[in-house]
Amino acid sequence: MEIKVYPHPCLKTPASPVETVDENIRNIVQEMIPVMRELDGIGLAAPQVGLSLSLFIVEIPNKGIVAAINPEIVFSNEQLKVMEEGCLSIPGHYLPLIRPSKVKIQAVDLEGQKFEITGEDLIARAFLHEIDHLRGKLIIDHLSPEQRIEFERNLTL
Ligand SMILES: [Zn+2]
Repeated sequence: MEIKVYPHPCLKTPASPVETVDENIRNIVQEMIPVMRELDGIGLAAPQVGLSLSLFIVEIPNKGIVAAINPEIVFSNEQLKVMEEGCLSIPGHYLPLIRPSKVKIQAVDLEGQKFEITGEDLIARAFLHEIDHLRGKLIIDHLSPEQRIEFERNLTL
């Protein structure tokens, strides 16, 4: 398992829902954890390792790994925050992005049970970033057309 980097097509493809949470899915999650940690990431979505599956992991400090399968946003607050955001699939680039400061998501866990979890600040941002990945969306897709052209130009330098 290895990280796919931009402009790999798997990063642009919306992920397929997970039909059954089985041993295969649990193994995939177990394999994703060291890939994320080795690169000092706080989150990783399956499409980033070339798997079209609607699942991600986020590492919450002092709490451990949250694995979210078929996640959906059920609430996001109106208070927005700007923070520099990076992506393991676009190494070396950080972009200031506006995101809600708090979100609640609903997902399925590794036992196939539905759960809800609320994240604030960095964790809210991580959830939204990973859900973007599952929709085939990257941080650079938040840029204005002019900023995007600038980004592509810098990328090829
Ligand atoms: Zn990312």
